[in-house]
Amino acid sequence: MKSSSFNIVILGPQGSGKGTQAKMLVKKFQMHHLEMGGILRRIASKKTTLAIKVNRIINIDGRLLPSKFVIDILKQELDKLPTSRGVLFDGFPRNLEQARALDKILKLLNKSLTHVFYMPISHQTTIKRLAARRTCKKCGRIFIAGQDMQRNIRQCPVCRGEIYHREDDKPIAIAKRLAIYHKRTLPVVKYYKQRGILITTSGEPSVQKVAKDIISNLV
Ligand code: AMP
Repeated sequence: MKSSSFNIVILGPQGSGKGTQAKMLVKKFQMHHLEMGGILRRIASKKTTLAIKVNRIINIDGRLLPSKFVIDILKQELDKLPTSRGVLFDGFPRNLEQARALDKILKLLNKSLTHVFYMPISHQTTIKRLAARRTCKKCGRIFIAGQDMQRNIRQCPVCRGEIYHREDDKPIAIAKRLAIYHKRTLPVVKYYKQRGILITTSGEPSVQKVAKDIISNLV
């Protein structure tokens, strides 16, 4: 199969490293990266009424945004992309309604999902990783405090944007997000398993080891 026909979903709990693996895959296979959390955070950072609502749901309530809203955004984003390359869906779908909508949207484009990677990690690993995760507000790069950078660095070494600890990566929000993940997103894993396109790769090992496992399914 040519990499231009790959349409991939990457699933896993918070902190499983799906964003990191997604970035590696899009670079290696020259795919489009459709990162729903990043798109929504950009909307939330504006000064509009919509932004205030989105910000509240993501950062204060720690809930999922309504699927209709997110599905509309997905359609708009797909419309902007040339169809000649594959797409990697990261942070979407988050529930069964979104998974079914994605199937329909791809069908209208004469496409379908080719691979779904699922990267499970333990509850403890999520808590540990998110407590140390820092994000650049400008370029979205992720750093591990105390590993990739000193704990109190405030400026991105790559783009000089502001480094911050996402509100929704703090302990109370993490517990809520994990509960939603179990209730709403795990059924999506089952949905793809039944379809026979699910590939499970533990997210516990090193970034390099996980990348190797994922790539071995694509070459
Ligand atoms: P993420 O960066 O993927 O952890 O997403 C951050 C937050 O954005 C989530 O906790 C949700 O509030 C929201 N979000 C991201 N993707 C979706 C989605 N597919 N459906 C609904 N809400 C989403």
